[in-house]
Amino acid sequence: MIRLAPKVLSRIVRSKVSRINLSLTYDCNQRCKTCNIWKINRENPSLKDQEMKLYEIERIFDMNRDILWVSLTGGEPFLRQDIDRILRRACSSVNIVNITTNGSLSNKVERGVIETLKINKRFSLIVSISLNGNREIHNAISGVEHSYEKAMETYARLLNINDRRLRINLEYTISKHNLGQLKYIDTPNVIISIATNTPYARISGDVDFAVSVKEIKEEIKYLKYDHDVHGIIQELFLQRLTSERSNPKCVAGEYSIFVDPYGKIYNCSYFTGGEIGDLRKSNYKIVLNGDRNKIENCKKCWSSCEAYPTIIFRPWRIL
Ligand code: SF4
Ligand code: SF4
Repeated sequence: MIRLAPKVLSRIVRSKVSRINLSLTYDCNQRCKTCNIWKINRENPSLKDQEMKLYEIERIFDMNRDILWVSLTGGEPFLRQDIDRILRRACSSVNIVNITTNGSLSNKVERGVIETLKINKRFSLIVSISLNGNREIHNAISGVEHSYEKAMETYARLLNINDRRLRINLEYTISKHNLGQLKYIDTPNVIISIATNTPYARISGDVDFAVSVKEIKEEIKYLKYDHDVHGIIQELFLQRLTSERSNPKCVAGEYSIFVDPYGKIYNCSYFTGGEIGDLRKSNYKIVLNGDRNKIENCKKCWSSCEAYPTIIFRPWRIL
């Protein structure tokens, strides 16, 4: 991260899309209570064929060489047959790659990471494994028996890989389903998300899992972070998340974009402002339509997805 400082500074002066939040597939082998993504391809199998192929994802990297950071997400990205090649390609092309997994496919995750680290280049690879409580609660939230054991096995295997370019996190999503449980996760540097009813997660109508700021404050007070760049960013995110002040303006559409598995570009995973580009229609070059300063229906949220790039590229907004 520190190595990137000169590049980040140059972009602070002149804003430029620097990070892609790229959803690789809507396939998922869990059935979480806080997310309906897993239903998309099951209910309409023809949609699976419309997801971007490997050559299209490679083309995104070819056509956008000034991207610094790619977040790979899903669905469960390790369900893709070509995930090893995507991961290697991402780490060959950009400086920071983070990937989120439910950790259910221990062999595949471990192999993908080991193969990627064979690349002879400097990069940061951050793997976040979802863990949402103790065995009973995690399995109940994921809707899949033994998902806790699998996630913990994947976490343990990755911790055994010794490479300074690799960082392994547990990612914990706070919701009504696991309130009061975070203090029992005896691991430092846990990454926090808050369950919300985003259009991306395909939750609509009244939700019963949203938590209040007061509940979040109570939940996170036992967390501990290293005093490195990652720890500082996470602490800044949490401070602002639990602050009484209104949320800072995020950098969605300015420094960061969300790309769905079909190549459609949105400002953020709330799809706020609607579709603002289509990689398949622009030869995979990022071309944005619309005025970033007039994003319609913005929730003025402080979601972790957009908070991290905001802290990095527009740090004064959180002061
Ligand atoms: S939260 Fe993640 S693991 Fe759970 S159903 Fe949604 S995509 Fe799958
Ligand atoms: S504040 Fe939230 S809803 Fe608005 S653009 Fe940023 S991430 Fe999207």
